[in-house]
Amino acid sequence: MTTTELIIRGGRPRGQAPADILVRDGRIAAIGSPIPTGGEADVVDAAGCVVLPGFVDAHAHVDKTLWGTPWHSHRAGPTVADRIANERAVLRELGLSAERQSARLVRHLIAHGTTHVRTHVDLSPEIGLRHLHAVAAMREAHRDWIDVQIVAFPQSGVVAAPGTIELLDAAVREGAELIGGIDPVGIDGDPDGQLDAIFAIAARSGCGVDIHLHDRGEVGATTIERIAERTHALGLAGRVAVSHAFCLGMLEARRLDVLIELILRDDIAIMTHAPSGDTPFPPVRLLAERGVRLFSGSDGIRDAWGPLNTGDMLERAYLIAYRCGFRDDAGLELALRMITNFGAREIGVEGYGLDVGCAADFVVVPGETAAETVATHPERRLVVKKGRIVARDGRSLLPPAA
Ligand SMILES: [Zn+2]
Repeated sequence: MTTTELIIRGGRPRGQAPADILVRDGRIAAIGSPIPTGGEADVVDAAGCVVLPGFVDAHAHVDKTLWGTPWHSHRAGPTVADRIANERAVLRELGLSAERQSARLVRHLIAHGTTHVRTHVDLSPEIGLRHLHAVAAMREAHRDWIDVQIVAFPQSGVVAAPGTIELLDAAVREGAELIGGIDPVGIDGDPDGQLDAIFAIAARSGCGVDIHLHDRGEVGATTIERIAERTHALGLAGRVAVSHAFCLGMLEARRLDVLIELILRDDIAIMTHAPSGDTPFPPVRLLAERGVRLFSGSDGIRDAWGPLNTGDMLERAYLIAYRCGFRDDAGLELALRMITNFGAREIGVEGYGLDVGCAADFVVVPGETAAETVATHPERRLVVKKGRIVARDGRSLLPPAA
């Protein structure tokens, strides 16, 4: 663990021809065959494995997971508002520590190859900045193990929950890298009120914007137009994302074209985690072909919103492929890019990838091709973060939590 040189012997970088990877001082120092073993180097045999860049979970909610606690039977109603109300009640009842829960979860994310996570952290008049401080403390404690980016997230709405905008402003001043939003129509009933407030903070502070948009059909579509209008007017192109954007999977072709043009004009990124059931979601392959920036994430992982997500981003790529009906290698590789390069670009990771000079953040997984790893998503053989082995055979090497 403390060695500064590591050789990954004979794996297939991104499923290409086998090559050795030399890691030195946290970076990829050389790729080739064979790299001679130095005296102090730690050598890992990766024959029969694919080496992939570290996974990017660019949409999570680590502060409110129930991970590691006794099974909690899901009992929320079907609407977003029902789920928000249920979550408040569940979290109040369980009284969990957001710091402990988020630490439990990132240990698990690391074991599955996630090297970077963007997490939306709840702020509300009831919670105040408690969760923000908890996740910031967890982030500091895990800084050598995983990179964490924080979105200040108004889960209960902005206009509908007076006092929230002041909390969002405070969170950004305290270092949240992005400001979030949620269904300006569906939750707040005041799209201009919510969007004006959060975009004013973004314009003033320079933080990014990542808005949850579950509102469907034309309501969602006009909300994207409103988001684009503000992105354009404030010169925030490339700094705004819309998460979920279910509406993009519901529009007829000409209406969708209009929105794609706006999305491209202002370089707005679209996040989908390929939601379960019959929930519509953006047409991934079409948007990718048109040049729209896409990315993905786990969303809630075993929390009051649902018990199913596992935090395994390679499984997430599989689920994207599954829901999109991808069978060809190109589709599986697109799903893989959503959890690797696309996510890294969205959260602004510098030196990401498997080239010489890149940060040594990568995952070794059994298989021969990149597409195959998505289809099979087997246990991770090895996870390397900042040049150190942080997980082996599906288990994180983090010391036990205090
Ligand atoms: Zn979310």
